[in-house]
Amino acid sequence: MSMSTTDVVRYRGRFAPSPTGPLHLGSLTTALASYLDAQYNQGQWLLRLEDIDPPREVDGAADSIIKCLASHGLQSNIATIWQHNNWQRYRDTCQQLISAGQAFYCECPRRQQDELGRCTSGCYKKNLGARNNNLRAALPLTDLNFIDRVYGLVETPKRTFDNAIIWRRDDLPAYLLAVVVDDVDSKVTDIVRGDDLLHETQRQLALYALLEQRPPRFAHIPVVLNEEGKKLSKQTGATGLDNTQALENLQRAIQHLGLELGAQLPSDNPQSLIARAIQHWRLPEPRLQKGQSIIN
Ligand code: GLU
Repeated sequence: MSMSTTDVVRYRGRFAPSPTGPLHLGSLTTALASYLDAQYNQGQWLLRLEDIDPPREVDGAADSIIKCLASHGLQSNIATIWQHNNWQRYRDTCQQLISAGQAFYCECPRRQQDELGRCTSGCYKKNLGARNNNLRAALPLTDLNFIDRVYGLVETPKRTFDNAIIWRRDDLPAYLLAVVVDDVDSKVTDIVRGDDLLHETQRQLALYALLEQRPPRFAHIPVVLNEEGKKLSKQTGATGLDNTQALENLQRAIQHLGLELGAQLPSDNPQSLIARAIQHWRLPEPRLQKGQSIIN
């Protein structure tokens, strides 16, 4: 399905995994939440492979993610987006910001950046070139509190300045840039993702403002934790899902989301389980306190 600028989109959601390993229960739970929210709202849902960081990527992970989602009944009728195809769009956006005086090159090594990764040595005044330097956007800081559909009012820290990297010195686009450009280009209206990304939202909103784009709605759902209370991830020992156990995996994801499906006969395939979950969909409760201000 093509997405032309004349499309009026009421609801378009997305799942945007980085192909750094196979899907595990945590990522399945996020994928399912975004899918159910889109279906419940009679919206569209798309899959975007965030393959912009080759050093972190694992061979075959992208294909395994696509196959795993399909085995679990999570498929889209919109063509899958691969970020590696969008390099030029990211470069053009950087150029646009540089021309408008809204981005500058920075030579500071990491040890010279502050705890938020900002440049504090005035590189914006130095007129540096691209070679071996990071490109930073001068982000506007006006009123970036936002209403999250799960967390309610999220109060973001007041800052005197912010400048985040949008293009890396190793010549790769930064997540901040790619995620915003693609969500804008794909006309994503609703982002449902893990609450480990809650703290990224302020900078993303600032970039929407800089690009004069309307931001989507956000719903950050509590990520699945392991036994030690850490986010389930490859680094914390999460194992890839077994596609032959799709029904059981979905049942566990549904349980994590706290969904009650009512007393009907048990579903015997992923599609019918998902159809029931759509009927009973509601966003989960937040894990952190509502209105809590986010660190970072
Ligand atoms: N690619 C990011 C990840 O796998 C998610 C990006 C997003 O949902 O905004 O953590």
